[in-house]
Amino acid sequence: VGISTYSNVPSKDKLLGGLLSEEFDEESCKSRYESMFFTNASYSHKPSPYLIKRLRKYEELHKRCGPNTELYNKSIDQLKSGKNTDDQQSECKYLINQPNSGLGNRMITLASTFLYALLSNRVLLTESGKDISDLFCEPFPQSSWLLSPDFPLYQLHHLRFGNVVKDSTSNSSSSITIPSYVFLDLSHASNHYDKLFFCDEVQHDLVNNITWIITASNQYFLPAFFLMPSYREELNLLFPEKDTVFHHLGRYLFHPTNSVWGLITRYYSSYLSNAEQMLGIQIRVFDPRNNIFLKEKPTSELVLDQIISCALKEKLLPNVSTLLSVKKTSTRSKSVLITSLKSEYFESIKNMYWEKATVDGEIISVYQPSHEEHQQTEKSSHDMKALAEIYLLSYSNVLVTSSLSTFGYVAQSLGGMKPWILSRPDHYKELPEIPCTRALSMEPCYHAPGPTYDCRAKKDLDFGLVVDHVRHCEDVSEGLKLI
Ligand code: GDP
Repeated sequence: VGISTYSNVPSKDKLLGGLLSEEFDEESCKSRYESMFFTNASYSHKPSPYLIKRLRKYEELHKRCGPNTELYNKSIDQLKSGKNTDDQQSECKYLINQPNSGLGNRMITLASTFLYALLSNRVLLTESGKDISDLFCEPFPQSSWLLSPDFPLYQLHHLRFGNVVKDSTSNSSSSITIPSYVFLDLSHASNHYDKLFFCDEVQHDLVNNITWIITASNQYFLPAFFLMPSYREELNLLFPEKDTVFHHLGRYLFHPTNSVWGLITRYYSSYLSNAEQMLGIQIRVFDPRNNIFLKEKPTSELVLDQIISCALKEKLLPNVSTLLSVKKTSTRSKSVLITSLKSEYFESIKNMYWEKATVDGEIISVYQPSHEEHQQTEKSSHDMKALAEIYLLSYSNVLVTSSLSTFGYVAQSLGGMKPWILSRPDHYKELPEIPCTRALSMEPCYHAPGPTYDCRAKKDLDFGLVVDHVRHCEDVSEGLKLI
């Protein structure tokens, strides 16, 4: 659908079935209103009325307690005093996100942090980093989610949540002094005590009474909330369809700025919009020097073989003919959008369909917007291209992604697609019999949920066996995902 039809769409649908607030100015952030015209899945997954209600309630809270309000200033004073006594108990509680890693990691972490903010009635603020405001519009009306640069963030790191829990469990006789702030590590490197954050009793006795929580993570940790009995009912109401959590939260929170939206729409209109179908192929190779066949074949050749065999086996692309001239003609056409830091895959696939005809006459056009060679996180122009490519991938009809890559997770979830996941080439112990497998759901994977400790039973447990809708991931066996 072209964006020319935009003005005819009823306003409720422009706002993704009520997911988005009506309070924004359209011109300042066009993607908020226009992105739906490129997405295939917009209409098939509706946000629940309860989610819509909770988002509006959250927006009110954010307006009341957000930066530069009276209540915010009061909470800052409390933070400076270092105390959390009852008479100073702050009316507003805060959750500060400190992003790290690449863009995909940052987006899945922000969505997880936001879900916790919703569940715990906290105000989400994010460290602005070098380029977040070049990438995303403000998500909450009449306020900001950016933490002011003079906030004493790093001074607050020394009081680690894990240590507070450890002390409180070892001194069970004495009453715990509740601090006014803690630093909570929920990254892949968090330890057993940090992860006790996901215990109901710890939430109730400790976390709920702390005004400022500073979190640093690079993980999609939100599936852990689905294992907590105290949030079960609330999460059922928020997300009757369990595999749409990032799909809804991501489309609520992330709106590319007008500059990034320009990159997306110009590319889409110039190269991708004319074909009937669009196949996205997201290629991410983590350690190309690590495959046991390296002497025989470089990893890039193995990956290319794997992509082609996946595409042919699953009939995502037609084969090419061995004949010099092919009589068959077809009016069918497909555009293939490749994203990768390198250009070699694009060159090979483009040449394959240029040098030979397809067996069924289908016209295949192959495109790659950029090849940045190396990850350059927090360089604004680099991240803007990465974000544009994530959104372009999300507009595919069918998607192939690379194992373990959060870049691919975000694209699949925003687009509402279950991708075909390529097996990991740098883990090759032998060539995989199956080049790709279909994802169980469109949700991202929580890579590092372990150590998996059951707070009630006080012993380790396989978290993939606790509830029907949380399972181990297709690409990371120890990971967890919502299905
Ligand atoms: P992950 O490391 O694959 O989980 O994904 P992240 O997005 O967290 O980090 C990878 C970063 O490398 C991206 O944010 C980009 O900066 C860069 N990158 C990786 N693949 C691509 C790509 O296909 N296109 C572009 N433009 N950048 C990429």
